Amino acid sequence: MNEVELPSDKQIRRSQNRLRATIASEKYTGGKSKTEAMTHPVLTPFTMAMKSLGYPVASQRKSLLLLEHCEGCSKEGVLTFKGKSRDFKVCGFCKK
Ligand SMILES: [Zn+2]
Repeated sequence: MNEVELPSDKQIRRSQNRLRATIASEKYTGGKSKTEAMTHPVLTPFTMAMKSLGYPVASQRKSLLLLEHCEGCSKEGVLTFKGKSRDFKVCGFCKK
């Protein structure tokens, strides 16, 4: 797992801000936010930050994230990402 560069807290926070801005502008124009409806407050910014590092989510069907149970934090937060040579799994909550 160590060959993969994970996003820093700062990068994740930047994605969170971007997401929040999108949601706010959708609410401003339409009252309801499509983005908010399909956004997870922790996992979505994490996948955005991962994508900007070059690792798109592999475990996704349409806009739904397919999550697996994490042994580390006992949450349903393990995502599969497409790596450069092979896919790998990371938990969006504890980053393990
Ligand atoms: Zn975890």
